[in-house]
Amino acid sequence: MTIGWCFDNTYSRLPEAFKEDIKPVPVKKPELVVLNKNLAEKLNLNFSNLNDKEISELFAGNSLPPESNSIAQAYAGHQFGHFTMLGDGRAVLIGEHLSKKKDRYDIQFKGSGKTAFSRNGDGRAALGPMLREYLISEAMHNLGIPSTRSLAVVKTGEEVIRETSLQGAILTRVALSHVRVGTFQYIAARQKEDELKTLLNYVIDRHYPSIKNSQNKSIDLLKIILDKQIDLVVNWMRVGFIHGVMNTDNMSISCETIDYGPCAFMDVYDPKTVFSSIDQMGRYAYCNQPVITKWNLSRFAECLIPLIDKNQNKAVEMATEIINSFEKKYEEKWLNMMRDKLGLSGVDEKDKYLILDLLTWMHQEKMDYTNTFCHLMNFEVANKENFKKDDFENWKKRWQERLKIYNNTPEKYLKLMRSVNPLVIPRNHKVEEVLNEANNGNIEPFNKFLEVLNKPYLEQRDIINYQMPIYSNEKYQTFCGT
Ligand code: AMP
Ligand code: MG
Repeated sequence: MTIGWCFDNTYSRLPEAFKEDIKPVPVKKPELVVLNKNLAEKLNLNFSNLNDKEISELFAGNSLPPESNSIAQAYAGHQFGHFTMLGDGRAVLIGEHLSKKKDRYDIQFKGSGKTAFSRNGDGRAALGPMLREYLISEAMHNLGIPSTRSLAVVKTGEEVIRETSLQGAILTRVALSHVRVGTFQYIAARQKEDELKTLLNYVIDRHYPSIKNSQNKSIDLLKIILDKQIDLVVNWMRVGFIHGVMNTDNMSISCETIDYGPCAFMDVYDPKTVFSSIDQMGRYAYCNQPVITKWNLSRFAECLIPLIDKNQNKAVEMATEIINSFEKKYEEKWLNMMRDKLGLSGVDEKDKYLILDLLTWMHQEKMDYTNTFCHLMNFEVANKENFKKDDFENWKKRWQERLKIYNNTPEKYLKLMRSVNPLVIPRNHKVEEVLNEANNGNIEPFNKFLEVLNKPYLEQRDIINYQMPIYSNEKYQTFCGT
């Protein structure tokens, strides 16, 4: 029996300007570290007839599937607000695989060698960051949040030099596509309207065929993406996810969470939380994520102007109207998400104050975000004493009064709360712990953690260690992992 690859590489058939044809650079001594069997199954891929060596060679890019047609994609992006021409500097798209249901997935190797877009980089990646992306992207998926996924990580048997010498690795990333806001920026900057139209039609064919025949495709695409990106960022806020590097090249047109470099989950509730060492100004802090989403969408809208209307003023006016709808839509969706977290049914004018008062209290008392909601669902984790304080008790009375209206019942509200409040998230100290072990050759703790993160909303035995925050005066910092 074969693996089951079914490639149809549409992106590689786009005009020259969109990409570079290139093969992964073979590596010395590939060795499989993790393989995602659940995801393989979903993709209708079967690796069970391959031996370890064959699997490692495959996911290292040393032996490519015959139907692959590998490319590096060109894109640009605003990085921390500054526009730059970028492109896949260390990634190669080996092709688009179709599942039996004809769902289309990009299969991409990350860390597979230099490309035309590598600039000063070595085209490689280190084991720790690739396993980190694997773990957190899978956790996000299992939290019910759209995300690229991870099929495998192999060690390359080669060193990569960063501040120190690290073990090299390649991640196989699976995405609905890798078209980004930055892809539109790259093509728009070339100022060739036919190329822009090609990209627009490509994206609509691939992701949003329902607007194929609409009167104004670019306006409708902008509307769809605005709505989907709002949903995405509301989901991030729900679980305390901080992306950390929301540059426009890291915003996907299919609206999946993409690029798990310096991301991390907030522990203590503080809206200004930033983990990324390079984000000195807090541009991508927890509370800024919706603001930046809107900013990125504005950059996207700018690319579409020439296609929206021949009259530029009119085009700008039409795009602005959509972009300006962001706040109202976001606020409504955020409020509803928070209502769900508190198990509230229906809409009450005062809900907003009830929600904000809880958040303010959590901030003042330095409460753990995830575990506070666990407490409200009657799962005690830590910091129990604080919940006995008067200000919290008073808040709780208001909440309990609110829970009584709109035909709510404990059964109903607990069910709702348990569907949106995770019992377990990838806590920073645990992530570090399992990555350390993996770097030292022990992948067991990583696999155990993955298993727990597979079912974040379910009660699982013996997971208290994964739920406990760590109290440390040292600020947790993340790095881009390049
Ligand atoms: P990121 O911060 O991961 O979104 O990456 C920004 C840009 O830098 C992208 O164009 C990457 O392909 C490129 N890049 C990151 N690391 C490397 C590397 N080690 N070698 C070459 N290019 C890289
Ligand atoms: Mg990126």
